[in-house]
Amino acid sequence: MLLSPRAQAHRDGADTRRPRTARSRGLASALLASAVSVCLVAAGAPPTPLGVGDRLFPHLGNPGYDVASYDLALTYSGNNTKPLQAVTTIDGWTTATLDRINLDFAHGDVQSVEVDGEAADFATAGEDLVITPADPLPRGDWMRVTVRHTSDPVSAEGRDGGWLRTADGLAMANQADAAHLVFPCNDHPSDKAMFTVRVTAPNGYTAVANGLPTDVDRAGRATTWTYRTLHPMATELAQVSIGRSAVLRREGPHGLPVRDVVPTKDREVLEPWLKKTPDQIAWMESKVGPYPFETYGVLVADTVTGFELETQTLSLFEKGLFTEPAYPEWYVESIMVHELAHQWFGNSVSPRTWSDLWLNEGHATWYEALYAQERKAERTLEARMKAAYGASDRWRTAGGPPGAPKPPASGQKIGIFRANVYDGAALVLFALREEIGEEAFDRLERTWLTDHRDASASTADFVRLAGQVAGRDLGSFFQHWLYDEKTPPMPGHPEWKPVAPAVEAAE
Ligand SMILES: [Zn+2]
Repeated sequence: MLLSPRAQAHRDGADTRRPRTARSRGLASALLASAVSVCLVAAGAPPTPLGVGDRLFPHLGNPGYDVASYDLALTYSGNNTKPLQAVTTIDGWTTATLDRINLDFAHGDVQSVEVDGEAADFATAGEDLVITPADPLPRGDWMRVTVRHTSDPVSAEGRDGGWLRTADGLAMANQADAAHLVFPCNDHPSDKAMFTVRVTAPNGYTAVANGLPTDVDRAGRATTWTYRTLHPMATELAQVSIGRSAVLRREGPHGLPVRDVVPTKDREVLEPWLKKTPDQIAWMESKVGPYPFETYGVLVADTVTGFELETQTLSLFEKGLFTEPAYPEWYVESIMVHELAHQWFGNSVSPRTWSDLWLNEGHATWYEALYAQERKAERTLEARMKAAYGASDRWRTAGGPPGAPKPPASGQKIGIFRANVYDGAALVLFALREEIGEEAFDRLERTWLTDHRDASASTADFVRLAGQVAGRDLGSFFQHWLYDEKTPPMPGHPEWKPVAPAVEAAE
């Protein structure tokens, strides 16, 4: 994700425009009421929300199973304020004996649940859908859970994310903890899975999802579009775009299919930006190695988000980034590269927990800054890092050190996406490069991506690999840089100092 400098003002603006109704709260209490009655029928302890122990989001994800694949079937009415009808089918393995199966799901009405084809009881607890199968599932068993539900595209009050309503339909923005506002899932990047997405929409709409199209089936007044991923994906990176869209195809390096999805009426004005993508992919490949997925492209949403998001194989951008004349060309391009870089850092290699977010955003910011420097931005990478050093202590105070970010504050939409994990974390990578040298740093980046491709990896994994590549233990170096309250001295730049806000503003 990248929050732009324009984010705050736009977010405030978006708030006043977004309709808020009591409807979703009513829905939640209706679910709660049905939960109570189901709970009384199912004997035993009351259903409780579970999690996988993420320090920042204690109730995200669920123990006891490993999802292999999701099949999402969504039916869109043509009205983006009406709930979509949906069937979510989850195939996976149990990793423990399960009396109950917890899924994360919080913003739709559940109509029925089946486990291995048999009707199962269900209840809601917190943001979990708690399912009680007729018989407990043994450990190591293959299971299929089918949930018929609605998916509400209108945000609940104070709970943004999930569906994003655009001028002509819908898109998705699930990072970090909002995929389960769209569909029932194990909503944590430590459990990646394959995805098939089927969208049925009235003729005249175009639906696009992660991965490649496998089928388009027109029947009467509606068309069903099917997409499948060729690589596992975290739920936070799912993307479904439904709109009056044009799908523009071009070729990337060594035949990679590049596919952009834009509002049909804006295709000409966007084309000068879109045609830059193949060269940007080639540039990233020259730095870190082959592009990790089956396709890439830019999804332009006609709405105000205040952020861009690296949804897998199809990054989400708000239209204003490309149409606001005040942004210099290098700036817009560097933001495109930020989201592109996430396809390697964050998507192909996912964070094991959300405290590892600095690995996502630090790397995306690093390549964004490097690209900007090569595109003749006003500042070199080193100048940008020196400025970051000046602000770093304040960022650590506000958001925690990069390796231990503070939890999201309630009511604050910025969540865990603060400066400490962007330029504050790129600064850690800069310090690392100064410490181990450019050659070792480059080898570390490439080895990291090949070692953990299509998987999730942790900060400890990165620290260990960096030590192996450098040929010496870097534990103490990372301990200070990732977890100290104050920023350590910059290797090779003892003259860099924290800067008071007034001085910085005057620069
Ligand atoms: Zn980002």
